[in-house]
Amino acid sequence: MTQMNYTDSTRVAIIANGKPQSRRVADRIFKALRDDPDFYLTKRNPDIVISIGGDGMLLSAFHAYEKELERVRFVGVHTGHLGFYTDYRDFEVEELLRNLREDRGEKVSYPILKVSLTLSDGRIVTSRALNEATIKRLEKTMVADVLVNHVLLDRFRGDGLAVSTPTGSTAYNKSLGGAVLHPTIEALQLTEIASLNNRVYRTLGSPIIVPKKDLIEIVPKRVGAYVLTVDNKTYHHRNVQRVTYEIDQAKISFVATPRHTSFWQRVKDAFVGEEHEI
Ligand code: NAD
Repeated sequence: MTQMNYTDSTRVAIIANGKPQSRRVADRIFKALRDDPDFYLTKRNPDIVISIGGDGMLLSAFHAYEKELERVRFVGVHTGHLGFYTDYRDFEVEELLRNLREDRGEKVSYPILKVSLTLSDGRIVTSRALNEATIKRLEKTMVADVLVNHVLLDRFRGDGLAVSTPTGSTAYNKSLGGAVLHPTIEALQLTEIASLNNRVYRTLGSPIIVPKKDLIEIVPKRVGAYVLTVDNKTYHHRNVQRVTYEIDQAKISFVATPRHTSFWQRVKDAFVGEEHEI
């Protein structure tokens, strides 16, 4: 039996959601790469992570490897309807395999968000977000100070606040009235969730976009139950003292295949579609 030397092989992890179509695609890629000496299939320390499903699956893949971003490049195959982080459709697997075989390590990288939660007992919990992080108060109106670079910008009253990355600007941020931001712009966007605006209470009322190195701080003014989300993950906390948001030092990288379509084309495909003559 020939002993394989895997040191020069590209280490590839395949992650798929539970849909039959995703499993079929995963199986096809698995069989093709298993028999190719240029690739070594493994979930440990991969160079490339192939996510099969939709944007939600890519978010999960990101979080599974969020501590290995220096090394990992992602590529997404979508088997659902909408794919913002996915370059390939399920019927384009052969093209993906061909491009992987020709791959020379090129990548496109985008900013991600670093969230630090400080609890009243002094504990600090940090996370990374690819789309956004939100804070909401359950039961009652959230009252919180919003600081940008230590300037007290606003006293917010409402349901909550969201801070999104440029690639996350087309996700929850967009539903909150935020702007669509090109992902090469290293900036974060803060949007309000159902702010209270009347004769007594006022908030800024519009989304703000802060540049790299600017720190956003949210300081809740009431003790209570808060829900913090980081992409598709939800955390419940009491005693939230402050939450800070900044651009992380690490970035997410995608395999720069010829399929990696222009951001504006993605925006058009996802939200606008083809023009129709009336
Ligand atoms: P999911 O997979 O059902 O995702 C919800 C929708 O958001 C899907 O259609 C998905 O394709 C789309 N989406 C995700 N990331 C996107 C992006 N960067 N650009 C454009 N569309 C994107 O649910 P999930 O797995 O729990 O995903 C969590 C994400 O859902 C969150 O990160 C948040 O952005 C989004 N979300 C949106 C709303 C809203 O728009 N009202 C509310 C909650 C969560």
